[in-house]
Amino acid sequence: MADKRNIPAVELVLQHLKNSSLPRPVLTQIVRRELENYRKLEKVPELSDILENLSGKAKEAQRRRFQPVINATGILLHTNLGRSPLSRSASQIVQEVAEGYCNLEFDLVSGQRGKRAGYVEELLAMLCEAEAATVVNNCAAALVLVLRHFTKEKPEVIISRGELVQIGGGFRIPEILEASGAKLKEVGTTNKTAVQDYARAITSATGLILKVHQSNFVMMGFVESASTSELAKIAREAKVPLVEDLGSGAICQTNVVKGLAQERTPQQCLGSGADLVCFSGDKLFGGPQAGIIAGKKSRVEEVSRNPLFRALRCDKLILSALQATAEAYLSNGACSSSNVLLWQMMQISVEELEQRARSIIEKVKNSKLQIQFATVISSMGGGTLPESEIPSAGLQISATQESLESIATKLRLRQPAIIGRIHEDKLLLDLRTVFPTQDAILIQALESI
Ligand SMILES: *Cc1c(COP(=O)(O)O)cnc(C)c1O
Repeated sequence: MADKRNIPAVELVLQHLKNSSLPRPVLTQIVRRELENYRKLEKVPELSDILENLSGKAKEAQRRRFQPVINATGILLHTNLGRSPLSRSASQIVQEVAEGYCNLEFDLVSGQRGKRAGYVEELLAMLCEAEAATVVNNCAAALVLVLRHFTKEKPEVIISRGELVQIGGGFRIPEILEASGAKLKEVGTTNKTAVQDYARAITSATGLILKVHQSNFVMMGFVESASTSELAKIAREAKVPLVEDLGSGAICQTNVVKGLAQERTPQQCLGSGADLVCFSGDKLFGGPQAGIIAGKKSRVEEVSRNPLFRALRCDKLILSALQATAEAYLSNGACSSSNVLLWQMMQISVEELEQRARSIIEKVKNSKLQIQFATVISSMGGGTLPESEIPSAGLQISATQESLESIATKLRLRQPAIIGRIHEDKLLLDLRTVFPTQDAILIQALESI
């Protein structure tokens, strides 16, 4: 056992850590735990080593706090980095609403209780060219709600085997279906499902027909799937709802951006006869995390009357951000993406990014790194548009004495953290996802590594 006299007092260590911004009880807990470990050692290290180790532990804990980071990966909807950034108008109203009270469920004209999110729902319906819309916490929640609701009495959901997909970590369509209490009725094969496959599967136990966007992969070659309008026809005849999970939620045409494929919009799906569509608020829509459900008025209304809806509804902060994002699409007359931050970032020209990259390189003085201009490829991420390749520009750092991993770690451990991407023996910093106001921080970081 270690000589206890060599273990410093908790107070002494806390004094040493007084510049940490972690709450004192959090620091105390870290210190107690570490000192406890030292007690078990044969030989207690020097005081200076103990203090240094504990400073390191405090810094590690500090980095686990939520904090802004600089995304230099070029992945616009990086799920691990919080998906879509919000437009200024959205973050402003979130802040105003957060710091005080708001008319969340209060009608300012009558002074009576009002409908929660009534105005936001109207905006969303307008954008989707739908009769009605509503919103829950995320697209997974929207899917669970819709499945639970329509399979209450008739348990079967008809879905193509080609659409039993896994979207991200821990989100598999068949598992969500089962967790919702629905009974899976798979039709067709992985690569081919015809409309007749669905038609043959319809029975008196069919609760709904579900079509799911494959999102993060594409199939090519000998493939066939039933179109929304074909499915809508048989769904109408059988009087079962047709629901389409779009996932990414592109309100505007994505192929206006160089390098992006065409994505079916909610408007197109509803126009082709789907009863309901659902999609994420924080993928291509460019808003906060939310699950938007749009379509036929009677269907939207019955879904939002389901008791489960109450457990999945959004709070005032999300609804505020969603309102600002929807208004941004409508602020240039018809539906336009030019005021939505995510879409602005998708459309920054390579020339502009190149100019910024060259200017950064020029300004970096006395760097030990080998930094060069690089043409790079940004991607959408977030499980959307898997083939997207948006031409972009940035910096490439080559290894000299130091390994790329070590340089990448140093960038990550700065405050704010800078997250790059290692590709073919280069550390790439793609400027498409870095805001111009962050260029100075990049310069400083590159100089001091
Ligand atoms: C991303 C995605 C989801 C999940 O959306 P969240 O908003 O993250 O819950 C569901 N379905 C599809 C097809 C998706 O692409």
